[in-house]
Amino acid sequence: MYVTLFMDVEDLVALEADDIAKTCSDILAEEGVQATMCVVGEKARLLKERGRTDVIQALKQHDIGFHSATHSVHPTISEYLADKDWEEGVSEAIHREKPGVQAILDAFNLMPSCFAGPGNTWGAQICGAMEHLGIHAFVYAHTRIPEGGIHRFNGLTAYPWGGGFNDGDYQDDAKAEANRESVKANLATQRDRGAFWQEVFLGHPTRILHEAFWDLANFERGKVTPKEAWVPAPRKSEVDLQRALKNFRAAIQTVKSVPGVEIRAIRDMNQLLAPLPHHNITPHEQTQVWSEIQGNLLAMSGWPIVPQDLDLSKIAAVTKERLFTLKRYDWRRLSV
Ligand SMILES: [Zn+2]
Repeated sequence: MYVTLFMDVEDLVALEADDIAKTCSDILAEEGVQATMCVVGEKARLLKERGRTDVIQALKQHDIGFHSATHSVHPTISEYLADKDWEEGVSEAIHREKPGVQAILDAFNLMPSCFAGPGNTWGAQICGAMEHLGIHAFVYAHTRIPEGGIHRFNGLTAYPWGGGFNDGDYQDDAKAEANRESVKANLATQRDRGAFWQEVFLGHPTRILHEAFWDLANFERGKVTPKEAWVPAPRKSEVDLQRALKNFRAAIQTVKSVPGVEIRAIRDMNQLLAPLPHHNITPHEQTQVWSEIQGNLLAMSGWPIVPQDLDLSKIAAVTKERLFTLKRYDWRRLSV
């Protein structure tokens, strides 16, 4: 079973968050694994502007995904897509996300392997926009097919969200160990039921360094804070940070130790899947998966960054209109 390890690199506020992104990248490399690091476009621009080629090079030991242009800065994706139909929404998403893709290209000199939805803010038009911008996969996907697993939606390869480690627990030895046990058990279960691929989310470097998320105080529930007034999240004590890093390393070692697991970044997964034919799911199957997809979409309102009263019904409706683009891969063609 293939497993992709993910981290989100997104803190636009704390300067020290640059360093912790490098530390996490180096630990992953020392453990001999390649992860998919999902980087916010504005973060890539800031790294370049601040001359942090050391951080950029450290991240580049891994695969680079696109974690949206500006993440939690309002309007987030579901806010700017909330009232848009398909066509308008695709143009709006191209307009807003293109500078972010360009920033990744400028900093890393490569196209991101995937779009990775920030927090919980998404709309189907993102897939139309990404296809236009040259990104052909998305991860943390809300879409589904009946049998689960990797599928296609709107011309992109969709890697469904699959959980992983709680980065807020790394500084607590007991909780971190419980996390490792549950991830290990889940991987074994997936492997035994013959799953082809599984995500393991490792967390956010910034949350390993800080006691809270970088965006909460600045953007909570639609709050607009001018850039000059952004405040960094409270930093952990040195002792807690070192314990968190120790448990972060142990998390990676745990995934590596599960028999039958092969760690592959999304860029390699995309390549592996590229030659496979794919077929539409039936209209009946589209109806079958809709309630789960709708549930995933409506749950986005629980993300503490979006306004409490954000109406997600149009995002759900536009996604429903695109269910005819759901496809499954023909795995029989894969020679493994
Ligand atoms: Zn994020």
